[in-house]
Formats: sequence, C-alpha cells, structure tokens
Amino acid sequence: MSKLTDYKILIAEDEESLAMLIDYNLIKNGYKTKIVKDGDFVLSECDTFSPDLILLDWMLPNISGIELCRRLRTQKKYNNISIIMITALGEESDKIRGLETGADDYITKPFSFPELIARIDAVLRRSKFSKGQNIIEVGDISINRDEYRVLRDGISISLGPTEFKLLNCLVEHPNMVFSREKLLDNVWGVDNINVEIRTVDVHIGRLRKALRIKGKKDPIRTIRSAGYSIDQSS
Ligand code: CA
Repeated sequence: MSKLTDYKILIAEDEESLAMLIDYNLIKNGYKTKIVKDGDFVLSECDTFSPDLILLDWMLPNISGIELCRRLRTQKKYNNISIIMITALGEESDKIRGLETGADDYITKPFSFPELIARIDAVLRRSKFSKGQNIIEVGDISINRDEYRVLRDGISISLGPTEFKLLNCLVEHPNMVFSREKLLDNVWGVDNINVEIRTVDVHIGRLRKALRIKGKKDPIRTIRSAGYSIDQSS
C-alpha cells in the first residue's frame, strides 16, 4: 500500500520482546513508531507523538488498555486516533467489550505480522475516508488536495501550481482524453484568451518529467491531434 502520509503508530505494549518485534515490522512497512510500556504514559505520548493509530495492549501496567481506550474515546482531542486492541485473552466477550469501548479492531496474541499489518492498513484506510480527506488515487498516483501533496508509488512528487492543477484535471476522469482547449479552460480558466495552446504542451511536458520514476511507465498518454489523458493502469 502506498502511503499518503507517514502514518505514526504508538505501540502500547509492556512485553518488551513483542514490542520490539512489532516495532521492527512496522518500521519495515514504512510506519513511524514509538513504544510505550506503561499505561500511565499512553495519554501523554498521544499528546506529544500524536499517533494516527495506537496498538493498545489489553493488559498494561498501571492503567489497563481497556480503561485507556475508554479515556481516549471520551476526549475529543483524541478523536482521530484509531485504536487496535491487542488481547491475549482470546475470549469473545472481551473482544466485544473492547469494540464496545470504542476500539476500531482487535487482534489476538499470538498473531502473524502480515495479519497485523493488514489490519492496521484496513483501519487507517477506513479512518482516512471517514475523516473525509480529499484524496484521489489513480493507478500508483495519489493526490491529497487538502495538503497539495502528490505521491507516485509512495514517492513524494513536487509539482508547480499549474502542473498540480493539470494533474487534478486529468485524474478527474482517468483514461478520458482532454483536448488542449479543454485543459486551457479548466486549468487556466476564463482568462486563457492570451494563453497559447502550446503552453499546455509545455506544462504537460513538465508534469511528465516530474512524474517520471525509474522503472515506471509514463502515466500520461498523448493522443495525436486529440489531446492528453491519464492512464488508470499506470
Ligand atoms: Ca501486557
């Protein structure tokens, strides 16, 4: 999964060897991490580290995971932190209790790391959409319109404002061919009277160059005498 933001995950787990293993696997998958081993420090870590997600062990010293989950869910400032409970109990009633308290998901020890990563990805994807972030994904290109950020295959792409607008226009209808006139109207707006049609080609050229990544094909298709389109399968 290509990540739009560098998601931060707080690992609240007092079993040192497990915490280290989780940490290693999350970093390997591109997450930023922090470990906290004591229930007393989980909320303060939420304030300073501001994680996107907490892996919250059910049994933590001083304040239990379930109690922390309850506290996190009753304070508005923690609203956008997703919670996955880690439980060793494996009993259905406890899982239900965890979810009722406001956890987004739970995972039972022992678990495999591919399963853990899959659950984290799913929870973060859900929360990203529920937060209503203005993100468009076409092929391996993702555009975050709120943050003016573009990623290709997880790599940050820097674009000028015109190229950004051009890309936004093209991804609105993947595979559809936009004529140069149409792009002029959409990107340069009503004041395009003095803009030459060739200007579109120049900026498409810059956009192409910016999106160029080794081993990846050009996502922009030129259709002779018709215009340009962005390829969904890029
Ligand atoms: Ca524990």
